[in-house]
Amino acid sequence: MLLKFTAGEKKALLSLQKKIGDLRKKRGFTQDPERAMILLVEEVGEVAQQMKRLWSPNYDIYTKDALAEELADVQFVLLGLSELLGIKLADALDKKTKQDAGRKWKSIDNPIPLKELRETK
Ligand SMILES: [Mg+2]
Repeated sequence: MLLKFTAGEKKALLSLQKKIGDLRKKRGFTQDPERAMILLVEEVGEVAQQMKRLWSPNYDIYTKDALAEELADVQFVLLGLSELLGIKLADALDKKTKQDAGRKWKSIDNPIPLKELRETK
């Protein structure tokens, strides 16, 4: 099972990566990839923080909007980091999905059960 990207999809992602890289530069954000990596981990942590609200009664309510905002931050920083490193993420994604296509996925025959996500607001 191969996930194929069209030339348009790859071009769009490459364009978005470039725009984000340019915007980060204009805003004076760090151009140091190691620092950008720290920011990425921070944003991933913020995704976890939002998802924790799904099950823990000790924090504010879970909302899909707040989670979406953090996922967008992750995407923003990931594309920015890729740009800083000179890695075209669209090409890397395309290459990786081609590699993964040859793997045997045990979950095809035994799908991982889905847990329902519910907003609590
Ligand atoms: Mg954030």
